[in-house]
Parts: sequence; structure tokens; C-alpha cells
Amino acid sequence: MKTFQTHSAEQTIALGRELARRIKPGSIVLLRGDLGAGKTTLAKGIAAGFLAAEEETVTSPTFTLIHEYRGPDVTLYHIDLYRIDTQRELDTLALDDLIGPKNILLIEWGEKFQSFARDRDLEISIEHAVGDGRRFSVTPWANKIA
Ligand code: ADP
Ligand code: MG
Repeated sequence: MKTFQTHSAEQTIALGRELARRIKPGSIVLLRGDLGAGKTTLAKGIAAGFLAAEEETVTSPTFTLIHEYRGPDVTLYHIDLYRIDTQRELDTLALDDLIGPKNILLIEWGEKFQSFARDRDLEISIEHAVGDGRRFSVTPWANKIA
């Protein structure tokens, strides 16, 4: 596990750009943290890092549920499951269809569902610190069973 700290939204976006270099195509990445922790802000940097979107065009998929950003090498799917409560609702999103060797799934609130809690490749947890401070814990997992 690696930890990082930022003190502003701008620093979190810069961290996202850095972290993008550690995220392998094909990955499922869980972004964990309370409302307002900075998950979507970090996603702006990650999308920018992959040249998949300008940071300001990355907005919260709270209502749209899935946003797609196409980069030259990978397509990033930014997903927010905050409003999804049941497995049946989750199934209608057909997220399995988005998993692929050139795709990255960046999921907010994915830990609500056992399948993602188990099958994630990388987990980035965000905690509030003093003021605008945020602490990030980045944990890679390699427990996938084929
Ligand atoms: P989440 O997606 O986790 O609900 P957002 O990224 O949408 O959170 O919102 C985070 C809010 O906190 C934004 O308004 C952002 O400007 C603010 N903020 C303040 N400091 C930071 C920081 N260090 N990192 C990220 N966001 C921060
Ligand atoms: Mg969000």
C-alpha cells in the first residue's frame, strides 16, 4: 500500500495524473471515500493522465451512472454506484460488458457490491484530513482467479 496527501483539489487532480501511470489497462479501480472526499476530483486527474478527457469535462456520473472517456490507448469508464441499491439494478448496467483489455473501470461506491469488492485490481481510499487535506491509500490487489 502507498499513501499520499494533498491539500487542495488541484493537488488531487495532479495526483490523479500521477496515479494514471500506475493503472494498467484492463483494470477495475475502486475509488472509496465519503461524499465530498474527492473521488470525482481524482478521476479528473486520472482521465487527464490517460489523455482521455480534459479535467474540466470530467463531471460526476451520479445521475448518468456511467461516463465514457476515450483516450488514445485506453477507454476509461467512470462509474458511480451511489444511487444503485440492488444487484438487479446493477445487472441492468451490464458493467461486465465494459471490462476489457483496453478498458479501465473507475468505480465510485463499487464496494457496495460483493462482485467489485472482490474483483478489483486497485483500490484508492480517500479520507478527509484537516481543512482541505485528503489522505489517499493506494492498494493493488492480485487475487484474481481466472
Ligand atoms: P466525491 O466524488 O468523493 O463525492 P468530489 O470530488 O465530487 O467528491 O468533491 C470533492 C470536493 O472537495 C470538491 O468540491 C473539491 O473542490 C473539494 N476539495 C477540497 N480539497 C480537496 C482535496 N484536497 N482533494 C479533493 N477535493 C478537494
Ligand atoms: Mg463523486
